[in-house]
Amino acid sequence: MNTNSSNMMALAPKTPNKRETVCIFGTGDFGRALGHKMIQCGYPVVYGSRSTQITNLIPKDAEVLSHAEAAQKAAIIIIAIQRQHYNFLIPLAEILHGKVVVDISNNLKLNQYPESNAEYLARLLPGARVVKAFNTVSAWALQSGALDASRQVFVCGDDMEAKQMVMDIVRALGLTPLDQGSLLAAQEIENYPLQLFPMWKFPVFLSLGLTAFFFFYCLALDIVYTYIYENRNFSFFIALTIPNRICPVVALILLGLVYLPGVLAAIIQLYRGTKYRRFPDWLDKWMLCRKQLGLLALAFASLHAVFTLVSPMRAFVKWRTSKAIVSQALNNKTEPLDTTNAWLSDSYLALGIIGFFFFVLVGITSLPSVSNSVNWREFRFVQSKLGYLTLILCTAHTLVYGGKWFLSPSAYKWYLPNIYMLSLVVPCAVLVVKFVLIFPCVDKPLTQIRQGWERNPKYSE
Ligand code: NAP
Repeated sequence: MNTNSSNMMALAPKTPNKRETVCIFGTGDFGRALGHKMIQCGYPVVYGSRSTQITNLIPKDAEVLSHAEAAQKAAIIIIAIQRQHYNFLIPLAEILHGKVVVDISNNLKLNQYPESNAEYLARLLPGARVVKAFNTVSAWALQSGALDASRQVFVCGDDMEAKQMVMDIVRALGLTPLDQGSLLAAQEIENYPLQLFPMWKFPVFLSLGLTAFFFFYCLALDIVYTYIYENRNFSFFIALTIPNRICPVVALILLGLVYLPGVLAAIIQLYRGTKYRRFPDWLDKWMLCRKQLGLLALAFASLHAVFTLVSPMRAFVKWRTSKAIVSQALNNKTEPLDTTNAWLSDSYLALGIIGFFFFVLVGITSLPSVSNSVNWREFRFVQSKLGYLTLILCTAHTLVYGGKWFLSPSAYKWYLPNIYMLSLVVPCAVLVVKFVLIFPCVDKPLTQIRQGWERNPKYSE
């Protein structure tokens, strides 16, 4: 068997008009979809299979040979076979020596094996140049033209040239290769398709928890309390009034929680006098999911805006308005316009509208398609400066709305504060600390620390 001629192919320069033959082991779902796509893009494809019979499922123009014969025809061999069958490759080790062997496999569970499938393959075939790629692309996405799925293909491997050859194929297929480094990254790449919105878990559970807590809080104060002490049945509040109370409260708390880790990190850095020590794990994780917290906050704020807009259509609001008019008519007395109240209501509406506008702006800028088109300084300006402006406006909106009731005993049913008062705790705390942090006597050392200055340097010059 002449292995040398096939090994030479790995390094042979590409002719501009003809693409190199690619060998795919396995004629299963992925092998067929990938082969089909490659043939479309001009690659001659040869399959290595346990059965050399050509069925009508195999892409037209592809050859099907035994594994050994197919491997000799190409410099790149893609293994479209599950990891548990990799043992069959051991007798082929000599033929695969010096060839680029691409591992595309996935597992059923996170960290299912102590070593990644690609490292296992490299151990089975010590002479092969193993590259990990394609595992995050599905057979379906390849067949449907990958237009409505992620185009990113994570690639890793220890042999730079082999990796480059695979990345060229990825590009030729209309996909985007992302070099992830050496084969050590394979385990992480193999875990990607198994993760279910990892950054969203904490923000989603937190917002669901807050929603549930405030729902029962409102249920007790707005419905049960009124029923017991005023004998009035306001159970219909569950449909719209209570959701419209919960949404702004959860939105404001979540928005506060987006900026709270930043101020906590600043306090920690000031206290330690260095930026070269890791933050606690919980703070690191919290900082990583700020975008998700912010987007959920925006979703709750949008719901609040919609609920508020439809409010005048509600039977209860119409009844209350007509009752007030009839009562004035019966008493033959027109109530004078309370200009203080008018100022307050116009102001809180204006603050809410402008706050919501900036909220949407900050939310849009966090989308990858937009954030990729601005530079780091512009991104920081929007996310930090405009973000804080949004927090100030939304907090002011809530304060102006309910501030006048803060000292009124009727606002404390069962001695409990109304929920809009609770919603102010986190954002007010963040704004107060941030205000202190921008004082020059605090800001200056903090900026120095962030530029690398240390109070007690470990390595003095
Ligand atoms: P599949 O449809 O079950 O095909 C696997 C192929 O492996 C079979 O058609 C068979 O090909 C070959 N095979 C099965 N048992 C074998 C054995 N004992 N020895 C040698 N070859 C054997 O699986 P698939 O969906 O194509 O997935 C193949 C690999 O791609 C897996 O590692 C999977 O994790 C990965 N992957 C799949 C997708 C996807 O969307 N399906 C996406 C990313 C990655 P022959 O009959 O031709 O020998």
